[in-house]
Amino acid sequence: MTDAEEFADRIQSGELRLYELEDHTDAETAAEARRVLVKRETDADLNAVGDYTFDAGDADANIENMVGAAQIPLGIAGPVNVDGGAADGEYYLPLATTEGALVASVNRGLSAIRDSGGGTARVTDSGMTRAPVFQVAGIAEAEEVVEWVDDNTDQLREAAESTTSHGELLAVNPYVVGDNVFLRFVYDTKDAMGMNMATIATREATEVVEAETPARLVALSGNLCSDKKPAAINAIEGRGRSVTADVTIPRELVEDRLNTTPEAMAEGNTRKNLIGSAKAASLGFNAHAANTVAAVFLATGQDAAQVVEGANAITTMEAREDELYASISFASLELGTVGGGTKLDTQQEGLEILGIAGGGDPAGANADALAELIAVGALAGELSLVAAFCSRHLSSAHEELGR
Ligand code: NAP
Repeated sequence: MTDAEEFADRIQSGELRLYELEDHTDAETAAEARRVLVKRETDADLNAVGDYTFDAGDADANIENMVGAAQIPLGIAGPVNVDGGAADGEYYLPLATTEGALVASVNRGLSAIRDSGGGTARVTDSGMTRAPVFQVAGIAEAEEVVEWVDDNTDQLREAAESTTSHGELLAVNPYVVGDNVFLRFVYDTKDAMGMNMATIATREATEVVEAETPARLVALSGNLCSDKKPAAINAIEGRGRSVTADVTIPRELVEDRLNTTPEAMAEGNTRKNLIGSAKAASLGFNAHAANTVAAVFLATGQDAAQVVEGANAITTMEAREDELYASISFASLELGTVGGGTKLDTQQEGLEILGIAGGGDPAGANADALAELIAVGALAGELSLVAAFCSRHLSSAHEELGR
């Protein structure tokens, strides 16, 4: 009997709990023991799940009750030239997806962008938020608390920044609803996506608020942050990086490469991405920006649930004299090149393809570059999809690629 089988026996007999295995053995054996257990109890054969390359111990901060890894095919699109505030040069974009035709679509758009001289991108705003909710006696006391916060932001900054060597508190924006006071803390989290950083820093600041005012903390996250939920506040105020990418494509290239015209592209974008989205009361005024966001997020170790905020993007297309102007503006791309899932081997390699693994110089530059590159990739996806329906070959492209 192997060690893993013995541990599986001990779990099945009730002697050990599933999550206690790492207290008794190494991470690899613990994962194997859980696979043995799952196989016994479900008949699922986990040979593929158990065939992973990273060190299970390295994933300790990323997963509990680990049994193995779910693999996702990884493709690349490009190269494309990017003139960014942080990204600068020629890039291949790593995309992890199971959606056939996605990489081909982004690749086609990137080739049009490349042959137009490259994409331009800039991060226009940056700030990760955490918004605790406090209870007060009523509106008079709420006013008192908000005034205190406005007068003492430096004290809150000192407390918050005592917990981090990178994070900087940029603002504390109050919102009052009846006897609830929400304080939306905004941080520059540099190269980290920053949700842990902002949460830890805010916890420290809330202690000062409670000590100095009558406010009582109810929850460290009062949902006005707003994390991993569709929310207009992120689409309007921004969260993480706000970033825009744009390109001008000569008419000839639109006709040759995208098989349509600037006028048809502009009309298609207005009727679908703008009017259709408005009628649907969508927060995202785009064709499929989340596709590129999700695929790069998975390839580079981002928090996949934050694709929700990554869908807050507006695509514009305009027929100019002899060219097409196209842009995409993301309000809330939450991402980082340090921390979270970025440190796993395969995700590190995804970032290495882009040359931005780890902390940037200056701090924050790598995460800015990642935002700019995702924006250019998403713009390529928009160009390709809008062109596909303008030239009416969307379904045939899927058929040709066999799905
Ligand atoms: P993290 O892995 O918790 O922390 C990253 C740390 O890296 C920073 O705190 C910072 O330490 C350090 N660091 C080193 N070089 C840096 C650089 N150049 N720029 C910025 N920081 C640098 O990551 P996080 O980004 O704060 O949080 C992401 C994780 O939070 C993900 O795993 C995500 O799934 C999870 N998450 C948490 C919550 C929550 O509510 N807690 C919500 C959603 C997601 P110092 O702070 O000491 O400077």
